Amino acid sequence: MRERFWERFPLEELSGEEWEALCDGCGQCCLLKFQDADTGDLAVLNVACELLDTHSCRCSDYEHRFEKVPDCTRLTPALIDEFRWLPHSCAYRRVAEGRKLARWHPLLSGDPERVHRKGVSVRSFAVSSREVDPAHYEDHIIAVIPIDD
Ligand code: SF4
Ligand code: SF4
Repeated sequence: MRERFWERFPLEELSGEEWEALCDGCGQCCLLKFQDADTGDLAVLNVACELLDTHSCRCSDYEHRFEKVPDCTRLTPALIDEFRWLPHSCAYRRVAEGRKLARWHPLLSGDPERVHRKGVSVRSFAVSSREVDPAHYEDHIIAVIPIDD
């Protein structure tokens, strides 16, 4: 990977390895979300996708994720304009918006556990969708985010 590539190159020019390394491993994008059809608001649940390992906050089958979870979103530079649904802390969103990476990011800290210690990841509160009855999803809403403002 090129030295401090995230500061020197736009997202479209990153290699596959650099692109993957940009993910901070927070797991926030793997929480279930529901969009209000009228307002566009996004309800975020503390319930994670069935493939998320809620301890490591990484996908347990990243290679086959689209076969197993068809609505998993593949982040690509072409989707930059849609990155507003990602958390403010997300490294892809930060770079897309011209912001710096946080000091806890593994690329800067060299410590992939720091995202968890800082409380940025979902480790401390996420439950797997395998353990939650969809009829109770409404009880698991932890935030409502206005997307279209
Ligand atoms: S929100 Fe962004 S940084 Fe966090 S896991 Fe998802 S893609 Fe990676
Ligand atoms: S399939 Fe994997 S990457 Fe996609 S939302 Fe689920 S846990 Fe996240």
